[in-house]
Amino acid sequence: MFDHADPDLAGFREEAVAWIKANFPSALTGKSPTPFITDGALADSDPDYQAWLKRVVSKGWGAPTWPEEYGGGGLTQAHSVIIHEELARVGAFHPNHTYGEMMLGPTLLEYGDEVQKRRFIPPIARAEVRWCQGFSEPGAGSDLASLQTKCVDGGDHWIVTGQKIWTSGANHSHWCFCLVRTDTTTKHGGISFLLIDMSSPGIEARPIYLISGSTHFCEVFFNDVKVPKENMVGGLNKGWPIAKRLLQFERDSLASGRAEAPSLAPLAKQYLGVNALGQIADPDVRHRVVRNAMRARAYAHTMRRAALEAKTNAGVSAAVSALKNLGSDIAQERADLAVEILGHNGLGWEGDHFAAAEIEATRAWLHSRAFSIYGGSLEIQNNITAKRVLGLPG
Ligand SMILES: Cc1cc2nc3c(=O)[nH]c(=O)nc-3n(C[C@H](O)[C@H](O)[C@H](O)COP(=O)(O)OP(=O)(O)OC[C@H]3O[C@@H](n4cnc5c(N)ncnc54)[C@H](O)[C@@H]3O)c2cc1C
Repeated sequence: MFDHADPDLAGFREEAVAWIKANFPSALTGKSPTPFITDGALADSDPDYQAWLKRVVSKGWGAPTWPEEYGGGGLTQAHSVIIHEELARVGAFHPNHTYGEMMLGPTLLEYGDEVQKRRFIPPIARAEVRWCQGFSEPGAGSDLASLQTKCVDGGDHWIVTGQKIWTSGANHSHWCFCLVRTDTTTKHGGISFLLIDMSSPGIEARPIYLISGSTHFCEVFFNDVKVPKENMVGGLNKGWPIAKRLLQFERDSLASGRAEAPSLAPLAKQYLGVNALGQIADPDVRHRVVRNAMRARAYAHTMRRAALEAKTNAGVSAAVSALKNLGSDIAQERADLAVEILGHNGLGWEGDHFAAAEIEATRAWLHSRAFSIYGGSLEIQNNITAKRVLGLPG
C-alpha cells in the first residue's frame, strides 16, 4: 500500500487535483475514452479531446513513468497511480492511454535497441503517432502462437503476407506492432515481432461494423508488404517472449484502468428516488450499488499494492491475469447496474427521447461485454493464474 503520509505523494496529489480541475474540459466529463482511442477521425475532430491531449502532453504526463531521455515524465509508479485515480474521481480519463503508451512503449524500453527506442518512443509520449496491435488472426486468438501471417526475407527488407483480425483502430493508425511467422517448423520459436508502417503499399484495413453501427476494429490484410529490416524487435524468431511481455503490460493497463469509477449512487437517487433518510429508495439496488462500490474500492487498493510491489520486484507479475478478470467483472457489474437503474431510459440507442448520458450508459454497457474477451479472455486468464500463480498442472 502507498504511504499516504508521504509528504511528497500527498503534495503531488494536491497538485494533480488542482491541475486536473483547471485543465480537464468539462464537456468530456464521464465520457468513455474508448471511441477516441479507436476512432482517430473522432479524436482529430473533437476540439475538447485535442485540447485535453495537448495539455496532458505539455504537462509531461503523456507517458508519466517513462524515462525523461525518451520523452517520458520520469515519475514513479506511485505518481502515475495518483494521476489515474484523480482523473477517475472526477470522471476524467488519460487521453494518451492508448496502444502505444499502454503496450508498445514499455515493451520497447525493455526489448528495443537504442535506435528503435530513440525513434519510436518519444513520439508515443508526445501522442503524435497512433499504434494498433496486429496479434489476433482468424485461426489464432486465444491460441495466439498458432498465428500464420508469413514474413520472409526479401533481401534488404522483409515481405509480409497474411491476415489479422479484431485490430482495434487499424483504419486510423499510423503504425502497427505485429506478430509474424518467420519459421514454420516450430510453433513458439518461429514468431517475430515487427513494427509496420500502416501506409506501406499492400496493407488494407477493412472496418468491421458492429450491431451498434460503430466500428471498433478491422480485418487487416497484408499483401506482400515490404518492411525495413531494422523494424524487427529483438531479433529473428525471438518474438514470443516479447509478445508475452507486451500482453502482461496490456493486462496490467486494463486491470489498472478499472480501479476507480465515480459512484452510481447519484444516478440511482436521480432515477429511483430517495427514502426518508436520503438513501436510494430501492433497498435491493441500494445494496448492490454499495456492494459494487465496495468491491471497486477494495480492488483499487489491491491495484495500488500491486503497483508498489512492481516497484520493488521490477516488472509485471502473472497475478495481473487474476486482477484483469476481477476488474472486468466489477466493471461489467457496474455497467449492468447502470442500465438497470435507468430502466426503459437505458434501452435507447439514439433519438430525442433519451438524454446524452442515457445513451452513453447504454453504449458503455454494450461495450462492457468485451472486457472479459479482449486482452485475453476470462478462461485464458484463469488458465494462466492456475498454472503460473497456483502452480497447478497445465
Ligand atoms: C473489443 C475488442 C478489441 C480487440 N482488439 C484487438 C486488437 O487491437 N488486436 C488484436 O490483436 N486483438 C484484438 N482483439 C482480439 C482478442 O484479443 C481476442 O478476441 C481474444 O484473444 C480471444 O480470441 P478469439 O476471439 O479468437 O476467441 P477464441 O480463442 O476462439 O475463444 C473462444 C472462447 O473459447 C475459450 N477458449 C479458447 N481456448 C481455451 C482454452 N484453452 N481453455 C479454456 N477456454 C478456452 C475462450 O476463452 C473464449 O471464451 C480484440 C477483441 C475485442 C472483443
